[in-house]
Amino acid sequence: MALASAAERVAAEFEYSKEDVNRGVQAFIEQMDEGLGKVGATMSQIPTYVTAVPNGTEKGLYMAVDLGGTNFRVCSIQLHGNSTFSLTQSKVAIPKDLMVAKTSHELFSFLAKQIELFLKTHHGEHYQSHVERKASMIGLGGYKDEEIFSLGFTFSFPVQQYGINKGTLIRWTKGFDIHDTVGKDVCALLQKEIDALSLPVRVAALVNDTVGTLMARSYTSPGKTGTLLGAIFGTGTNGAYVEKLGKVTKLKNMGEEAGEIDESTGEMIVNTEWGSFDNHMSVLPDTPYDKDLDKESVNPGIQMFEKRVSGMFLGEILRRAIVALVNDPSVPLFSDEDSSRNDVHSTTIIDPSSPLYQQWGLDTSFLSITSGDSSSGLKVTRQTLDVDYGVSAASAEDAEAVRLIAAAVGKRAARLSAVAIAAVVISTDSLAKTGDDVDIGVDGSLVEFYPNFEDYIREALRDIPQIGPQGEKRIRIGIAKDGSGVGAALIALVADKAMRAGPPTEVTRRDSVVGGLSGLVQSFFGGLNRTVRMRV
Ligand code: ADP
Ligand code: MG
Repeated sequence: MALASAAERVAAEFEYSKEDVNRGVQAFIEQMDEGLGKVGATMSQIPTYVTAVPNGTEKGLYMAVDLGGTNFRVCSIQLHGNSTFSLTQSKVAIPKDLMVAKTSHELFSFLAKQIELFLKTHHGEHYQSHVERKASMIGLGGYKDEEIFSLGFTFSFPVQQYGINKGTLIRWTKGFDIHDTVGKDVCALLQKEIDALSLPVRVAALVNDTVGTLMARSYTSPGKTGTLLGAIFGTGTNGAYVEKLGKVTKLKNMGEEAGEIDESTGEMIVNTEWGSFDNHMSVLPDTPYDKDLDKESVNPGIQMFEKRVSGMFLGEILRRAIVALVNDPSVPLFSDEDSSRNDVHSTTIIDPSSPLYQQWGLDTSFLSITSGDSSSGLKVTRQTLDVDYGVSAASAEDAEAVRLIAAAVGKRAARLSAVAIAAVVISTDSLAKTGDDVDIGVDGSLVEFYPNFEDYIREALRDIPQIGPQGEKRIRIGIAKDGSGVGAALIALVADKAMRAGPPTEVTRRDSVVGGLSGLVQSFFGGLNRTVRMRV
């Protein structure tokens, strides 16, 4: 078979039609509703107890850390109170062996070490004076709280939250697997390691990256209406949005466990955990490559939406599609034309130790490189294949075949992303509710770097009758650059104020549960937010 037509055939397997998109949206809305009604649904729809978004006037210096799927970021953020901020950050790749360590201590002590390094590097004076003061105060009953950084801990895994800085890990995702951590309070784990290093840092708030993105975007976004949705398209994918409190019906059934809820804004931010949308595969596309990827993953049958959308998986989908073509004797992909032998395996130009032959060997950044390659003869793609993937002397036809399939995988991911975005916009009736644009904050390397990812999303949004070309124009999508850091800082700020103020009298007995502190979280943003009623 000619290479070009073989590649087209594979690319066609990733087509995700207008009809598919609409069926997806329908199912997505149904599964969102189901999650709002009960605990343990496919989509977790986790109530965050944060009931309003910031408006840009918040101020102060805070620290934030972000344990994503790939990197650990440490930053300090100065909020200027005029929708702008200054941010200092460091980033380190999480060593693979720590992702599957035997004990939480191994991972969390590594994180604390990074915080120490950051403080020494970027806040050396503060750090030094802390160390000296501490030494001089031994036996004097400690030092003052103001000298301590409040830190927002962005932890982008499913968590059952019990307080503003208290939450237990439900399950690991994105390739992490440390049994010891499941069911433990991740803030306490981090604080323990911070204390072991005597750092001047208090873990003040536990933040999901989606909520952080929503907060950060709302702090920086133009317009008078708050942001509707914060969405991540990075290692994983997930979204948090502003829901009507009355629709979060499972809160009623949770009784005491639900904690105190401030009802003054009539809204609550819900963390969808949409990575697990349609785990039972009623509407998601399922190519042979998707099936095999899932079967050989650490969590088969779980995070099925994420496995078709996010950075951790797209490279692996493409890798499997490429290997299938290479192994097809009738398709001359990466074949060695000079070879006189007929045995296919001996006539490929792929090095036997190429990452292309290893699970997870192909990084999703390669999809961006090849999809955006406009060099003549796809020179850039061929060079990358050579340098990073052990394919020497790939032909222009080889590169074109790879690019065609990569583009199809990327486009399908973007159209699936549109399904999630549209479902949130439609189910909250946001286009009808406001005359203003509907604002969406996004973050993650995939949406940031994959060429035309947003354009593909928009194309799919226009394919949905409830949105259409008119509605699509009114949906504003903005990268919440450094979103998780700023968002975590904003929540740390609020938690901090709440702590200084002390728990409100009516909830003194519950001051360790989320209602007690979050009541203040809510009233703080609720009081400042332009879009919600003032609280007297
Ligand atoms: P995290 O999810 O840890 O917060 P990122 O948002 O940076 O981190 O996402 C990392 C994921 O994005 C990885 O799966 C990586 O393969 C993918 N990625 C990195 N660079 C690119 C790129 N240029 N284009 C597409 N995907 C990328
Ligand atoms: Mg991230």
